[in-house]
Amino acid sequence: MKHFLPTLLLCLSPIAVAQQVAPKNIIMIIGDGMGPAYTSAYRYFSDDPKTKEIESTVFDRYLVGSSSTYPATINTVTDSAAGATALATGTKSYNGAISVNVDKKPLMTVLEWAKSQGKKTGVVVTSQVNHATPAAYLAHNESRRNYDEIANSYIDDGIKIDLLLGGGWKYFLREDRNLVDEFKAKGFHYLDKYADLSNLPKEKPVLGLFADVGLPWALDDDNKHRLSAMTKAAVHQIEGDKGFFMLIEASQIDWGGHGNDIAASMAEMDDLAKTLEYLEHYVEHHPDTLVVLTADHSTGGFTIGANGKYQWQPEVLRSMTMSADTIADKIEMITPDLLNTKPLFNFTLTKEDVEQLTNAKANVVKDLATYKALTTAQQKSERKPDSHRTIYKAVTLILDKHSTTGWTSNGHTGVDVPVFSFGKGSSVFNGYQDNTDIAKKIFTYLGK
Ligand SMILES: [Zn+2]
Repeated sequence: MKHFLPTLLLCLSPIAVAQQVAPKNIIMIIGDGMGPAYTSAYRYFSDDPKTKEIESTVFDRYLVGSSSTYPATINTVTDSAAGATALATGTKSYNGAISVNVDKKPLMTVLEWAKSQGKKTGVVVTSQVNHATPAAYLAHNESRRNYDEIANSYIDDGIKIDLLLGGGWKYFLREDRNLVDEFKAKGFHYLDKYADLSNLPKEKPVLGLFADVGLPWALDDDNKHRLSAMTKAAVHQIEGDKGFFMLIEASQIDWGGHGNDIAASMAEMDDLAKTLEYLEHYVEHHPDTLVVLTADHSTGGFTIGANGKYQWQPEVLRSMTMSADTIADKIEMITPDLLNTKPLFNFTLTKEDVEQLTNAKANVVKDLATYKALTTAQQKSERKPDSHRTIYKAVTLILDKHSTTGWTSNGHTGVDVPVFSFGKGSSVFNGYQDNTDIAKKIFTYLGK
């Protein structure tokens, strides 16, 4: 354990010190894929164009340090499972690991430890609730891909959670098992609509699932600030005498990064910013609460500016009302022109943009015809052309061109990520640290 506690208290044993400065409530937030370019970009994205200055953001107010993210092998770029395992347990593991070590042995998580100390526990995510990050706090599995096994373990390994909100009907309402009914039988209140977040029964544990897999993109959702809405309800539900540990994940910043959809990622950032602003207010009224926010890695190699141009133009992104996914779906149904694409993008395309979309659609038809002409045996060895993917790519290239956004990858990158913290005991996250240090510091506050 590193010595990170205030020097005035160093004459006491580390455990005694930790107990004196330990916050009652700990809220850990992960912006999945939120490398440093995302928080910088959000500042320009959310800037008020009517004023001369660039307004600072809630992220700017609480930036305290940075974190390295490499998994157990240092020349590897981490995935979300190894990243979350490090953040949840303080131990590095291999990509794909869900809170097991490199020998596949289970590792105690901060959430499990908090529960064993009598605290309430909550998990609020915009992915499915058994996705890599939430799973690493709640389960132990050799592979993040064992989605059904991970969901089963939420009941079978003993319930560790007082509140669980996110997506995942596909994994909880299965033919072989109805985990929703099983949770209800254990006394849980179940909800499947955001509207019901406002009247949760105070005395009951809660399971809320709002989508088949992940929640809709913030840009497409009927509540564009669903993470902040869920967080508000969650905090009120589990606060109490002995305090709580809560994991919150803005899961889909990463998904926008993988898909190189800058508009989708910025909308996810906006939902996270609103969540953080709410927690800023909560901590003012509950100063015995600690909030820590970091990312598990950066995604997409996103850069502000591209192709030698010294500019980034988020203006077009601000007015968008649909994700690139949804725009691509709609373009599949039309013959794109300057007029009918305007309501999709909410800005006017150039003739070249329309030409690109038209070409993408023509390529889809051509590729599908070529594929259909193959023998069945040949088709098996070829990949079936993905029309959505082709049109989607053309849509995101238009967004990149109009905003001068750059990407180096459809995967993760290994840059250090920012760390933000406020509330009681937040100073221990100052400066550079490794992702495993974050869990170690939280464990210390929890008396371990
Ligand atoms: Zn991730």
